[in-house]
Amino acid sequence: MTDRADALLSPFMERVTARHDGEAEFLQAVTEIARDVLTVEKAHSAYTRARVLERLTEADRVISFAITWEDDSGDVQINRGWRVQHSNLLGPYKGGLRWVPGLSASVVKFLAFEQAFKNALTGLPLGAAKGGADFDPSGQSEAEIKRFATAFMTQLAPHIGPETDVPAGDIGVGGQEIGVMAQVWMQQARRWGGVLTGKPVALGGSALRREATGYGLVYFTAAMLDATGEGLEDKRIALSGRGNVSRYAARKAMEQGACVITMSGRDGTWYAADGFSADALDWLLTAEGDAAFAPPKHLGLRFEEGGRPWDKPCDIAMPCATQNEIGLKDAEALTEAGCRYLAEGANMPLTQDAVAHLASAGVLQAPGKAANAGGVAVSGFEMQQNAAFARWSATQVDTCLRDTMCAIHERLIRERQSCCTQTGAVDYRRAANVAGYRRLAEAMIAAG
Ligand code: GLU
Repeated sequence: MTDRADALLSPFMERVTARHDGEAEFLQAVTEIARDVLTVEKAHSAYTRARVLERLTEADRVISFAITWEDDSGDVQINRGWRVQHSNLLGPYKGGLRWVPGLSASVVKFLAFEQAFKNALTGLPLGAAKGGADFDPSGQSEAEIKRFATAFMTQLAPHIGPETDVPAGDIGVGGQEIGVMAQVWMQQARRWGGVLTGKPVALGGSALRREATGYGLVYFTAAMLDATGEGLEDKRIALSGRGNVSRYAARKAMEQGACVITMSGRDGTWYAADGFSADALDWLLTAEGDAAFAPPKHLGLRFEEGGRPWDKPCDIAMPCATQNEIGLKDAEALTEAGCRYLAEGANMPLTQDAVAHLASAGVLQAPGKAANAGGVAVSGFEMQQNAAFARWSATQVDTCLRDTMCAIHERLIRERQSCCTQTGAVDYRRAANVAGYRRLAEAMIAAG
């Protein structure tokens, strides 16, 4: 970081920290963006006067609510839910809902803040929000999940609407949960409306919404490689997670000739030294419980208990699990393993020292707010379809998704002059922060 950026960052972060003391993830996300954009703000008197970035660190509102529901034994359970409506400058509040144990206001706030930049980068009319609950869906029966979803939406429904705030899924919240919640909202509102995205197609959802984040991640990565004169063909990809993002990223990458060598879960890593075959991937994605830890021999797959995906020889890393999943040690393992590119399917999956290490080793890094924006982009297309009472074909959605990811990549390339690494390559992290900031700043200035 330059001395100038440093001098701007310290007093700025002091003020933000005073208002958000103890919210580690939120402060981490703000620091990362502030470091890149404060010099841009300073160079533009209208942005400086409007205190654009500092205003962006304050969400419009944080809604926090209790969720009480009954489990299968008839016992009362209590959880906490949040919806952080960050900004509706560019369109209705928009962003996912995640149900994970231990979720905190700090995590939801950091995700909503990042979402503002991500949604801005898509070029679509989308504001920003995020929400969720400290609820662990794993091990719950279908009936329990349905009761929880109903209780959750009963609390949230008065705060959302197709032109107000449009939640979607995220970790722990998939099409089925969205379907239940859409029904609760429609019963309360007594009208039909595209109030949630990621709906099952039978309920007015969009083709390819489920696949969108993973496919988009691969389209962005292909564009990044293309800009350096390379291609995805035969590249070895170390992937983490085995949820919605990683599974479709793996499928699309394999379709494009890449070799996916790892997937991971809470208990360890599945490693295919010669790359996953389609059969091995299908098997892993449908294997349940402990059976997943003992892959049949003929699949060429090994489960490494407690193992990490990052120490295997690879060209590209795609962290698709959760925030801060790659620390300094993992980053060191990656560079030792020969990794040259990284594309984030998860939001903020790297700690700051991991980012710094990879940057100094010359690894090109596509940040989540650009590389995983395909999910929210197709949510934007779902909103367009719902508002027009129309349905697009899968081919149409796929074409628009690919165009959107390429347009985001172009937007970042255009920032090249002020956002390049020591070796002259595009600094995609900085470019994404700056390009997202510019769109938000222009809207803020236009709003007076
Ligand atoms: N949760 C996804 C994201 O982080 C999707 C959000 C949405 O579709 O609204 O971008």
